Amino acid sequence: MEAEQTRTAPLAGRIAVVTGSSRGIGRATALTLARMGADVAINYRSDAAGAEEARAEIAALGRRAIMVQADVSLEEDVARLFQRVEAELGPTTILVNNAGTTHDRLILQMKLEEFDGVLAANLRSAFLCTRAALRTMLRARWGRIVNVASISGLMGQAGQANYAASKAGMIALTKSTAREVGSRSITANAVAPGFIPTELTADVSDELRKYYLDLTPLKRFGAAEEVAALIGFLCSPEAGYITGQTIAVDGGISMQ
Ligand code: NAP
Repeated sequence: MEAEQTRTAPLAGRIAVVTGSSRGIGRATALTLARMGADVAINYRSDAAGAEEARAEIAALGRRAIMVQADVSLEEDVARLFQRVEAELGPTTILVNNAGTTHDRLILQMKLEEFDGVLAANLRSAFLCTRAALRTMLRARWGRIVNVASISGLMGQAGQANYAASKAGMIALTKSTAREVGSRSITANAVAPGFIPTELTADVSDELRKYYLDLTPLKRFGAAEEVAALIGFLCSPEAGYITGQTIAVDGGISMQ
């Protein structure tokens, strides 16, 4: 019976925080982790309706779920987020740094605020949440951190200097985290999605979509659930010997 439970709900009793999980890849990840047995904190900045839908879907699976409004680029919001999770669900041992945004523009036209804003939303947020979550993971002597980077962080992308730099920074943050806390059975990995149709990519021009499709060996775009499946695996007990890695879910675009 216990073996069956471990197989079907390998994350039972674990508390997961997924940043930016009101929609898109974050919501798909929150649902995947809940199906694997975890209780989940849904974080969002402004999309309360989306967060409530995600919370209800998780509750319907029989898992505990709370939604917490917090701008994860702000230190005080992150402190409040993790305090609420600890008080209402318990100690966080799974963190998915998924919240992210874009503000695409060529470097010569990019304002400093546009560069700094994307770095804060994508990279500073991952640092703040990692620092907060490590406190409980170190006490538990077990943890899983997954950072949602991008193939832009591996390959660079014209018009995305801010976004690509933030995602490359997340990959380096992942490796540094893995080295710092590996001795406590805490793993840190990054996933690097290719083109996934979500609200984030809704405004991409037809021309750019065709460009990405032409570059993709699998000749289709990915689904949020396909990214979530990899994140779920990296959070599972079976992935305990994988750390410091960046794995692309991109239909083959970034293969060497
Ligand atoms: P999305 O549909 O726009 O979702 C982004 C989520 O992040 C929303 O829940 C949003 O909530 C939240 N968010 C943004 N800034 C936040 C902040 N400061 N504090 C808290 N929450 C914040 O985007 P997505 O496509 O699912 O992207 C998820 C992650 O995957 C991002 O890190 C993105 O860079 C990465 N990614 C996506 C693709 C792709 O093709 N879609 C490719 C590579 C990487 P609010 O609206 O409430 O702010």
